[in-house]
Amino acid sequence: MKKTYNIEEFDFTNAIKRNVIIIGSGPAGLTAGIYTARAGLKPLLIRGNEPGGQLVTTTDVENYSGWKGTGPELMMKMEEQCEEQGCELIYGTVKAVDFSKRPFKILAYPDKTFIADAVIIATGASARWLGIESEKKLQNRGISGCATCDGPMYRQENVCVIGGGDVALEDAMFLTRFCPKVHLIHRRDKLRASKAMQKKAMQKENIIWEWNSVVEEFVGDEDLEGVKIKDVKTGEFKTLDVKGAFLAIGHSPNTTIFKGQVDLNDHNYIKTKPNCTYTSVEGVFACGDVMDWVYRQAATSVGSGCMAAIDCERWLAEQEN
Ligand SMILES: Cc1cc2nc3c(=O)[nH]c(=O)nc-3n(C[C@H](O)[C@H](O)[C@H](O)COP(=O)(O)OP(=O)(O)OC[C@H]3O[C@@H](n4cnc5c(N)ncnc54)[C@H](O)[C@@H]3O)c2cc1C
Repeated sequence: MKKTYNIEEFDFTNAIKRNVIIIGSGPAGLTAGIYTARAGLKPLLIRGNEPGGQLVTTTDVENYSGWKGTGPELMMKMEEQCEEQGCELIYGTVKAVDFSKRPFKILAYPDKTFIADAVIIATGASARWLGIESEKKLQNRGISGCATCDGPMYRQENVCVIGGGDVALEDAMFLTRFCPKVHLIHRRDKLRASKAMQKKAMQKENIIWEWNSVVEEFVGDEDLEGVKIKDVKTGEFKTLDVKGAFLAIGHSPNTTIFKGQVDLNDHNYIKTKPNCTYTSVEGVFACGDVMDWVYRQAATSVGSGCMAAIDCERWLAEQEN
């Protein structure tokens, strides 16, 4: 069972005090770190339990401008640059926050307390996985949580998409541009996706609909060689001859600790004001996948990390006047 933390029970007398505290060390948080450090704000960044964020779980990153290499290498360079510019990076995971009044309070594991005039939230989102054993073994060896990112690596290969919502159909249609066959595996006989999206997808001749089907096993030793599926109505099994499998069963934003502190949307992403990174609480900013359920890319996260830092710097300057 997860331990719950009541921030009021902790003593903040000796808390570490900073102008700006950034929560999260993915592309958004590290970029916010670079910009706020260069603005002389002496930021402190709390890495979380996935230092470097989602990109450390992938191999080649082929769509980040100016970069040719792996995800972990890219994130190591971003982290180096962030530290070189003067941002202090620490290990720890935020367990509770109090944004009800300024300065804001942050409690991080292992039992560290922080006080900040401004906070930048960059805690990202996590792709949902099926959780079956063979999936863990072949993750990033044919199984991916991001068709936009990894799809083009499967040019001229048959692939499958698992899901039935808008994202699944969008992913499938994207993949039809360069994959001969795209199997769409959906556990029901009706899609959750919007009618407009369904109409477009139904027109694609190379989408093969695997209705009422669930993944039983991802097949392969080193790399994915096929996907065994079960028809839940007939109980029959068959194995799809695919080299790539794309999970599109949703993302969960890492916002549990912010519930009741900043406004979230119906899908628990942090709400920001139009064209900026201001949240519902003055002095708290959000960037990257934690507030972006549409684009979810390294480039867009870096972009909004930069915006959050600039918004934060300007807001702090206004408070001094
Ligand atoms: C398998 C895979 C492959 C991908 N490939 C590409 C690609 O090729 N190109 C591309 O552009 N995008 C790719 N993406 C998407 C890209 O990784 C994300 O869009 C991007 O990482 C989002 O950045 P972020 O900084 O918002 O959040 P994240 O990268 O999710 O980072 C979140 C950070 O927050 C921290 N955190 C979370 N909770 C807490 C807490 N309570 N306290 C402190 N810290 C916390 C975590 O430790 C982590 O450091 C891929 C994603 C996946 C899953």
